[in-house]
Amino acid sequence: MPADGGPGRVQDVRRQNLAVVLDSIQRTPRTTRAEIAASTGLTKASVSSLVTVLLDTGLVEEAGVARDGERGRPGSGLVLNRQRGALGAEINVDYLAVGVVDALGELRGHKVLERRPGGLDVVFGDLQELARAVAGEAKAAGIELLGGGLAVPGLVDPTRKLVLTAPNLGWQDAALERHLEALLPDSPLGVVLSNEANSAALAELWYGHGSSFGDYLYVSGEVGVGGGLIFESQLFAGPRGHAGEIGHVVVQPDGLKCGCGGRGCLETVAGQDAVFSAAGIQGATTADRMAALMHALRTGAPDAVRAVERAGHFLGIALVSAARMVNVSAVILGGHFAGLQNWIRPSLRQSLETYAPGLVPPDGVAFSELGQTAALRGAAGSRLREAFASPADLLN
Ligand SMILES: [Zn+2]
Repeated sequence: MPADGGPGRVQDVRRQNLAVVLDSIQRTPRTTRAEIAASTGLTKASVSSLVTVLLDTGLVEEAGVARDGERGRPGSGLVLNRQRGALGAEINVDYLAVGVVDALGELRGHKVLERRPGGLDVVFGDLQELARAVAGEAKAAGIELLGGGLAVPGLVDPTRKLVLTAPNLGWQDAALERHLEALLPDSPLGVVLSNEANSAALAELWYGHGSSFGDYLYVSGEVGVGGGLIFESQLFAGPRGHAGEIGHVVVQPDGLKCGCGGRGCLETVAGQDAVFSAAGIQGATTADRMAALMHALRTGAPDAVRAVERAGHFLGIALVSAARMVNVSAVILGGHFAGLQNWIRPSLRQSLETYAPGLVPPDGVAFSELGQTAALRGAAGSRLREAFASPADLLN
């Protein structure tokens, strides 16, 4: 360990100050070097030198730089460079999705592909092709991708790049290192692995309804039902990273067997397939089945209406139990729950009021508007935030 004041120490301080200056620019677009010095307490000379380094990382640019590269008026301020971004990808049970999120948090390109049946190689073959197409379009638009994130519906170990278990994909201890590398070769920061519901919960915080709540439980409705907990605007993943798995909270003790090995989990009554099956809906693809379900609901078909009401009822039971346990009073519902909101809301509300009056008020229930982009936006957003927290990693 270098002693205080030694070269290592100086480097640490400089790394930290880079992040501090970058944070100022992120918080106050078009801020000037003088304003940054005033707000951070750093000297003008240090700020100037740190800004030069940040300009070198490409994360920041002078505001008002004309398209032909001619400099704007000096002192016109600094902004994040929206031509830097991260790739976000999602593997779900029935679809694959890839998109690009830029430094300002905007989605710049997005493609979805129906997932074919098959093992890891088939899935990653298709995902790679999709990623190549999206990354190619980003490159053509002049966006440089710093790294990426991949979200999967299962329990993951991001450090060892392993999917520990993803019952709905049929994966157990799946090693993804090679596949993650191939997804975005040559990016400075590489691709990290995350849980789909955790990533979607973060996407709500940054790009959706979450910022107005601060503390909430996010529930993703897909074939599986996932969950993510946000406390004080931070993801709470628990000691081993798997907290918030509301899909496997038991709501029917004598219910159906669940993919997790248990019985009567929320997923067995409120997951997408559970709803289709209770509604008597069939179809070749999930999109076909969802379209048929929506049609049945619009025409008031009793089986469909009952199936969705039942899902809302049990979703409410699981939500009040979870809300009591962790003391949150807001929930955000994504995936098919968002698509079915008009039909699911009444039974859900009734359930919330019956089992825990007043705990989750009507304005504490929000439905996601991010659709199939939620998980990939969270995965890409996390990668971008890591880059912003440690801009020095981009130098070399
Ligand atoms: Zn289960």
